[in-house]
Amino acid sequence: MKRILIVLLLLGLCACQKETLEDRLRILGYTEEAIQVISSLPEADQERFTETYDEHYSELLTSPEFDKDHLEDYLRYYGMLPNDKMIEMVNQGVLNENTLSRMKEVYESDYYIPAYEELYLEYLDRYPSVRQMMEAVNTGTYRPFFTDIKETDMSKGYLILVNKYYTLSADYEPDDLVQVESAYGKGQLREAAYEAFKQLHDDAYELGYNIRVVSPYRSYSYQVAVYDKYLQKDPVEVVDSYSARPGLSEHQTGLCADVSIPGIYIDDFGEYEASDWLSENAHRYGFIIRFPKNKEDVTGYIWEAWHIRYVGEEVATDIYERGITFDEYYACFIEDHE
Ligand SMILES: [Zn+2]
Repeated sequence: MKRILIVLLLLGLCACQKETLEDRLRILGYTEEAIQVISSLPEADQERFTETYDEHYSELLTSPEFDKDHLEDYLRYYGMLPNDKMIEMVNQGVLNENTLSRMKEVYESDYYIPAYEELYLEYLDRYPSVRQMMEAVNTGTYRPFFTDIKETDMSKGYLILVNKYYTLSADYEPDDLVQVESAYGKGQLREAAYEAFKQLHDDAYELGYNIRVVSPYRSYSYQVAVYDKYLQKDPVEVVDSYSARPGLSEHQTGLCADVSIPGIYIDDFGEYEASDWLSENAHRYGFIIRFPKNKEDVTGYIWEAWHIRYVGEEVATDIYERGITFDEYYACFIEDHE
C-alpha cells in the first residue's frame, strides 16, 4: 500500500514537472501557438520567455518570418521597431545600430505616412538626413518631376494640390471666379481667395505696402500660350523651373496670385520690405508663400516671393509654423492614402 502511494506520488510529480513550462507560459499569457514555439527552443532560450513576459512576445514568436537562429538579435532589437519589420530586417542582415536609429526617427516623425513605410526603408541611406529622405518620399520627389502624373483630388476644395505630379483637367474652370477691383490689382480670383486678399491688402496698405494682384487665375489655354512663349527663348528644363506646364499650373485653380508693388519688376519683389511683411503675415489671411526659398528640390520651382496661394487661415498658419511646403503638408495631412 505504502509503495503504491509512493509510486503514485512520483508519477504525479513527473506529470507536474512535465507540465511546468507550458503551464507557466499559459499563466503568463502566451498564446498556444507561441507556447509551441517556445517549447521547441533550447532550454536556455526558453528561460528568456519564462523569466520576463511582454504582451507582444507571442506576436514575435509566431511571426511567419520568425527564425529561431536569429533569436538573439530579435530580442536585442525587440520593441524598437514593429515586430514584423524588425524580424524582416534582422533576417536580411540589414539591421544595425545606425539603421535602427534612423528607422526610429522615421517612426517618431510627425511626417510619417504608414503607406510609405517600404519607401522610407528603401531610401533610408540615400539622403543626407532622415528628414530630407522623408520629405522626398512624402512629396514624391524621390522620382523625377512629371513622373506618374495623377489627376488631383477635386474633393479637397480649397486644399487641392496642383504641382508636377498632380494635374487639373484641361476643362477645369472654377465656378466662383470674381473680378479683382482695380484698387486691388487685376484679373480674376475665386471668391474666398479674393475676400481674404482684400483684407491682406488693406492691412498692408496701412503699413505703407501697396501689395496688388498682378496675375491671378489663368485658364488652361492661357497657360498653353504662356508656356509655349517661354519655350521660344529657353530650353525646356529651364522653362520648367519657372513656368508650369498646362494643367500643372496652380494659377488654373483661381486660388493663387502673383502679387507685387507698383513700379518694380516682379522678379525683384523679394528684395522689398513688402515681401518680408508678406512672408511673415500672409498666413494670418489664409495665404502661404507657395514656392519658398531653399525648397526648390521639393516644389520644383525657384523661390517665388510673389506667388501666394489661398488655403484658409488654419492650414496656412499650420504650414507657416511648421516651415514645410504645401506639397508635403498635403501628403501628410490632407491626402487619402490606401
Ligand atoms: Zn505664380
